[in-house]
Amino acid sequence: MLDRTRQDWQSLAEGLEIEGRAFINGRYEDALSGETRESISPGNGRKLADVANCGVDDAENAVRIARAAFESGAWASMAPADRKMVLVRWAELIEDNRDEIALLESLDVGKPISDTTGVDVPSAVRTIRWSGEAIDKVYDEIPPTPADSLALVQRLPLGVVAAIVPWNFPLSTTAWKLAPSLATGNSVILKPASNTPLSALRIAGLASEAGLPDGVLQVLPGPGGSLGKHLAMHMDIDGLTFTGSTEIGKQLMRYSGESNLKRTFLELGGKSPNIVFADANLEKAASFAAIAVFYNGGQTCTAGTRLIVENSIRERFVEMVVARSRDWMPGDPLDPSTAMGPMIDAAQLKTVVDYVDIGRGEGASLIAGGKQVMEESGGCYYEPTIFDSVSNDMRIAQEEIFGPVMSVIGFDDAEEAVAIANDSIYGLAGAVWSNDINTAHKVAAAVRVGTMGINNYFGGDITVPFGGFKQSGNGRDKSMHAFDDYTELKTTWIEFE
Ligand code: NAP
Repeated sequence: MLDRTRQDWQSLAEGLEIEGRAFINGRYEDALSGETRESISPGNGRKLADVANCGVDDAENAVRIARAAFESGAWASMAPADRKMVLVRWAELIEDNRDEIALLESLDVGKPISDTTGVDVPSAVRTIRWSGEAIDKVYDEIPPTPADSLALVQRLPLGVVAAIVPWNFPLSTTAWKLAPSLATGNSVILKPASNTPLSALRIAGLASEAGLPDGVLQVLPGPGGSLGKHLAMHMDIDGLTFTGSTEIGKQLMRYSGESNLKRTFLELGGKSPNIVFADANLEKAASFAAIAVFYNGGQTCTAGTRLIVENSIRERFVEMVVARSRDWMPGDPLDPSTAMGPMIDAAQLKTVVDYVDIGRGEGASLIAGGKQVMEESGGCYYEPTIFDSVSNDMRIAQEEIFGPVMSVIGFDDAEEAVAIANDSIYGLAGAVWSNDINTAHKVAAAVRVGTMGINNYFGGDITVPFGGFKQSGNGRDKSMHAFDDYTELKTTWIEFE
């Protein structure tokens, strides 16, 4: 599979049959209005498919179907061991179709094929399999009560859950939402990002094939501002799980308050600090500093966009990082040697171009990149870009750019490094590099983020929770903790005669 050439992937792409209809009640259906929207490949600007453009009527229909499926108990009351078997089978089917789904994700998102085959699809498979495997190992509680009474504390599914996901990791975020919400017995309506609906639509059909009862999962592609808002405001949706920007996350909290106080869990933006001390393994730290920000073109919520470096090594270390950045020159997503693909669309490219102008205007020193490239391809490609001499109060150090742009900030001691790291509205992720166990642990403990690496970046897997402090969100994806977002605790108190 991995020895396929670019030509192999291109000819597979030409023969790909792409499903663009919504998935409702176990079947693929057009939007009720018949409207479609073109799905465009960021790699070359060409049309991939016509995708159903669902609206308010489709949302109403989907909520009715999801509610009926939930009330029927066909899934919610199924023994956890049986739900497990369906989810495990679903994971197997995704694995069996790995190349096709990876290709779809590369075409739709512009992700390098080496990432979608090596990371995105395997991670979705593991998430769904792990959550399925876990669900029949979750015990409820019998609290310590007086001898003449007995109390049961049970976890019950919320009911109907809406899941709204972004375009930067469509398959992974879809799996992070669907696996625990379905495992715990909910019915779910997923709204993918308008730019990237294809992998979610494809795996929904496989869920049915695996035995998920009709009506338990709906996938509705359509605009966030109308369809997404309608779901978030809906009086008959019990839970909302969201991954996306902090700006939209704040709106969703308001929608919840203005409607039925649906449980609302948010995974939002970041401006993550990557702190390097002089005593670290500098070769490894430089290599990971580049990975931290250029992976997925910097379109990653946890991207290590603020490289915070001890001043005594800053000049030398920055030269090492600039050298590594050359490994991340963008290329065709279907070329297996490509490390970084295009920006998702022209609007995102413009955001990056504007922020590079802002950085120059703020007086930061542009030492690598700073240009759009491969314009002849029809895609929106941008060079790996590094600003040195950044101060943490500059906009390029405070605002999420969501592109391949690194800001280098110097520090003199650990206290200053922590103060810089924490001077952000975000608190999603970060890392510290040091060979001194005391420095590494003290700094890791003091940085207010949901996930902190010591001598690694992007570490972690499905076994650990993922989510943010501060304005990076409130819920937790992954691990058994994700089950908490999709369940209510119910107490039953029994007294003996
Ligand atoms: P976004 O603009 O917030 O959109 C995310 C989703 O919300 C999309 O499906 C969008 O639909 C929908 N939406 C937009 N407006 C809405 C509204 N008024 N009501 C309901 N839904 C609405 O974010 P994005 O640009 O797709 O993704 C990038 C952001 O996601 C970044 O901030 C990144 O940090 C964050 N992110 C966070 C994590 C994490 O786990 N913390 C992971 C990945 C990404 P449309 O596509 O139709 O606009």
